Amino acid sequence: RLTFKRPADTRRIAVANQKGGVGKTSTTVNLAAAFALAGMNVLVIDMDPQGNASTALGVSHNSGDPSVYDVLEGRAQISEVMQRCPDFPSLEVVPASIDLSGAELEVADMPNRNNLLRDALDQFLEQSPTHYDYVFVDCAPSLGLLVINAMCAVTEMLIPIQAEYYALEGLGQLINTIGLVQKHFNPQLLVSTMLVTMFDKRTLLSREVYQEVKTHYPSIVLDTTIPRTVKISEAPSFAQTVISYDPRGLGAISYREAAYEMNDRSAVVLETIASRRNEN
Ligand code: ADP
Ligand code: MG
Repeated sequence: RLTFKRPADTRRIAVANQKGGVGKTSTTVNLAAAFALAGMNVLVIDMDPQGNASTALGVSHNSGDPSVYDVLEGRAQISEVMQRCPDFPSLEVVPASIDLSGAELEVADMPNRNNLLRDALDQFLEQSPTHYDYVFVDCAPSLGLLVINAMCAVTEMLIPIQAEYYALEGLGQLINTIGLVQKHFNPQLLVSTMLVTMFDKRTLLSREVYQEVKTHYPSIVLDTTIPRTVKISEAPSFAQTVISYDPRGLGAISYREAAYEMNDRSAVVLETIASRRNEN
C-alpha cells in the first residue's frame, strides 16, 4: 500500500516540454488521478488549446464553453469555470478549448500578460474553501506566452522526457527559457522533477537514455519510469485516465509509483523553494 502524507504547502507544478508527443498530457492527467486516488485534493489547469487533458479527464470543453480562456482574459474566476472529474471526487479541472488559441495574440499587449494565470490562481487558492495539495498545469508544445504564463504561475517544473534517440535535444532551450523566467519573473521557480516516459525496458536505447538523463540531472530524475503501454494511449479515447481505465495494469501502477516518489520528496522540494523565496 502506498500511503501519502499531505505536503506542508500546495505544490504548483507545470508540466512542460516544447516537443510534442513526449507524454506531457498523459503525465499530467495520470499523476493528477494518482494523487486524487491517494486522497489528495488536486487541481488540473489545461493550458493547451488542443484540450487533451480536458478530454482525458472527462470534462466538457467545446468552443464557447467556460474555460481557462475566460480566466486569462479576466471574464471569469477559476472557481466559476472548473469542473469535477467524473472519476475522482477530489480532482477539479479547468478545461481548455480551441478558443485558447486566440489568447496569445489577444493578451500580447497587456502590461500584466505574463502573470494572468498566476494572479487568477493566487486568488483562487487564497479564497477556496478546499485546500489543494497539488496543482498541475498542462502546457502546449511551445515556449510561447501561454507556457510563460504557466511558468510564472507555479513553483515547480516537471519535464517529461521520452525515452528515444533525440531525448535530450531541445532540453537546453527549455532550460534556458526556464532560466529567463527565473531571472525576470519568478525567481523561486524550480525544475523539481524529470520523468522518463514511454520507456521500453527490453531496449538498450531506453536504458541508455535513462542513464544519460540521470547523469545530467542526478537529483531530479525520478527512479520510476513510465513504460510504453497500449492502455495509456487508449484511456483518453474513453475519456479516462489509465488510473481508472486499467487500474491494475502496469501504466497505472507506474504513474502511482511516480506520484508516490514525488510526494515523498515534498519536504525537500518545498524547502528549496522557500529558501529561494527568502534569497530574493
Ligand atoms: P504531449 O502532451 O507531450 O504531446 P501525450 O501525453 O499526448 O504527449 O502523448 C503523445 C501520444 O503518445 C499520445 O497519443 C499518448 O496517448 C501516447 N502516449 C503517451 N504516453 C504513453 C505511454 N507511456 N505508452 C504508450 N503511449 C503513450
Ligand atoms: Mg499534450
